[in-house]
Amino acid sequence: MQLTSLADLLDLQELDLAIDRLLDQRQSLPELDVYKAAHEQLKSLQADREAKAVTLKDLELQLDKAEGELEILEIKVDEHETRLFAGGMSSRETEHMRLEVQSLKAQQSAMEERVLGLLDAVDPAREAVTSVDAEIEKVEAAKAELEQSIKAQWKTIDAELGRKEERKKSALEPIDTDLLELYEKMRGIKEGVAVASFDNGVCGGCHMTLSPAEQEEAFADELPRCVHCRRILVV
Ligand SMILES: [Zn+2]
Repeated sequence: MQLTSLADLLDLQELDLAIDRLLDQRQSLPELDVYKAAHEQLKSLQADREAKAVTLKDLELQLDKAEGELEILEIKVDEHETRLFAGGMSSRETEHMRLEVQSLKAQQSAMEERVLGLLDAVDPAREAVTSVDAEIEKVEAAKAELEQSIKAQWKTIDAELGRKEERKKSALEPIDTDLLELYEKMRGIKEGVAVASFDNGVCGGCHMTLSPAEQEEAFADELPRCVHCRRILVV
């Protein structure tokens, strides 16, 4: 095991920690949470819009039908009245026709009420859809703006990541395979810090002091490791 190789390991670790921090920063941008909230809000607004559009469509269909029925009633009343005016019917027939007209007019007036009621209901239903549409447009615009901001920040972070990865490639070159394997394994179990500096008898990884006997034990090995945390020690 080359001592220069150990020192190189500290450089590598510094780069790896910087890369970890950048990756973490990439995934924890505050805008990402806001974006997620906007996305959820948009989904619920769209569901709301769909429900309101169904209500509106239903009212419009009912209105169409009522208007059609009203038109038919108006034609019938006209026809009956024309026949009454024309005369030439028996008095029984005339009375029957008169009662028929009366009944048709009652139906007509009820249908007119219904049409007016539906017209009153259609307007607010249409406004409700329009108002949700405006809300959706607002949230979509905010979402698009957030997306731009996130993309711009990611671009900066990714460029920095690219530079660090490039430097990592050359930092890896002088380190031998076995040491690298141990380094990676220790990084995995020691929160990314596999290598620690050793200063004044203190391990830079766990900050514990090694007694002279412990130091002797640690440095007797070709690959010195902290007796407490097992991190690789670099003097
Ligand atoms: Zn230690």
